[in-house]
Formats: sequence, structure tokens, C-alpha cells
Amino acid sequence: MAIRLGNGCSNCANLKDNNLCGIHGVKVTSSYTCDSFEMKAVLKDDRNCETCLRYETSDCSNPQKAAPHMLCSHWAPQTGMA
Ligand code: SF4
Ligand code: SF4
Repeated sequence: MAIRLGNGCSNCANLKDNNLCGIHGVKVTSSYTCDSFEMKAVLKDDRNCETCLRYETSDCSNPQKAAPHMLCSHWAPQTGMA
């Protein structure tokens, strides 16, 4: 199997709490992978004002309405800009 960065246990839908693999029933680490790897459907889906780079800055497009769990089309990721 070819080496792929995204196929580790940390991105696997079978990973349960406490780093326990739901398929094999053993503790795993982010550097493990196996043929049962199943990519999580969503790696990150927490887009809202709290995760927006513009929150509580002069760049916010809707400062009067910006609040946790709100979102507008000008949302920008924390790590996307610096
Ligand atoms: S060992 Fe395999 S099935 Fe278990 S979490 Fe890692 S990649 Fe997923
Ligand atoms: S999502 Fe929109 S309203 Fe919310 S902080 Fe970002 S720019 Fe402002």
C-alpha cells in the first residue's frame, strides 16, 4: 500500500474515544493505519463566528450580528490568514 499522509488513525471514522480502534479493539496512534481505514466524512465542520479570523476585529463584515454559532459568507479560517 502506498504511503499517504491522510490515511492515519486520527482521520479514520473507526477511531473511538481514548484512541481505541473500533475495528481492532486496541489502542492506536496517529501514525498507524490499516486496510480497514475509512476516511471521516468531515474533518472539520465548525465554521462559525468563533472560529472566524475576523471575529471581534475591524475586518468583521457583520460586527452587530457576529456571535458564537452565527456565520456569514465572509467567514475565514483561523489558520488561513495571518
Ligand atoms: S487501525 Fe485501521 S480501522 Fe483502526 S482506527 Fe486505525 S486506520 Fe482505522
Ligand atoms: S463569520 Fe462573518 S459575522 Fe462572523 S465573525 Fe466572521 S466575518 Fe464576522
